[in-house]
Amino acid sequence: MATRKPFVGGNWKMNLNRAEAVDLAGAVADGVADHVDVAVFPPIPYIESVGQTIRLSAVKVGAQDFYFEPNGAFTGEVSLAMLRDLGVSVVLVGHSERRHVLGEDDALINRKMLAALDAGFDLILCVGETEVQRRAEQTDAITAAQSCFALAGVRSQQMSQVTIAYEPVWAIGTGQNASPADAQSAHLAIRGTLVQLFSEPVAAATRIIYGGSVKPANAQQLFAQDDVDGGLIGGASLKASDFLAITHATLLGVAQ
Ligand code: PEP
Repeated sequence: MATRKPFVGGNWKMNLNRAEAVDLAGAVADGVADHVDVAVFPPIPYIESVGQTIRLSAVKVGAQDFYFEPNGAFTGEVSLAMLRDLGVSVVLVGHSERRHVLGEDDALINRKMLAALDAGFDLILCVGETEVQRRAEQTDAITAAQSCFALAGVRSQQMSQVTIAYEPVWAIGTGQNASPADAQSAHLAIRGTLVQLFSEPVAAATRIIYGGSVKPANAQQLFAQDDVDGGLIGGASLKASDFLAITHATLLGVAQ
């Protein structure tokens, strides 16, 4: 089995003020361990302050969103080059809130993927089914379709820049996480899609992380699953001690 270094991301969403963001970032940077890759995704106005605070640490600063065009008349949007100027090296694409609250579709997600990869960014591609789709037993069909759309035109060599986050929509921010067995089953299916789209070696090397109500109390069991390579954390990433406990849980899970 390929050895995949665990990854844990903290998606702060539209929370915190500048002082709180800087404090949180400093506490995360002070407590993080070497065995896990960690990134935080602050609100865009705080990226530069957070980046300054953690510049001497291994924690990366990421962006929750961007636009795929390099420049032009796109009021309110932020380009990848602007984010690079702020020290961003990793971006989120296809998060459920952007799909379901802000209305991003598969075509836009694919354009963002290709733009970020061509510009040399690492990215976290989020996929996951709604509650209705889960009840209809469409989880694997949905993650396969979302992955195929998003990854169209991506070259095998670019897959080293990609981490996939399985984030069931019904689990995000609800306190209701997927069971470890269900997460493992969904991750294995996604890895199967990557075999079909690319190859066995690419599928085996790609990190697939879980997101959806991960807490210190459930992280270790989730991360202990063979195909769960870490997590994307929303609510629990806003408290340094909880987020660090989750990053440390990868040691007992994935790295075994
Ligand atoms: C997320 O926003 O990606 C997420 C998983 O949120 P939460 O951990 O709060 O469910």
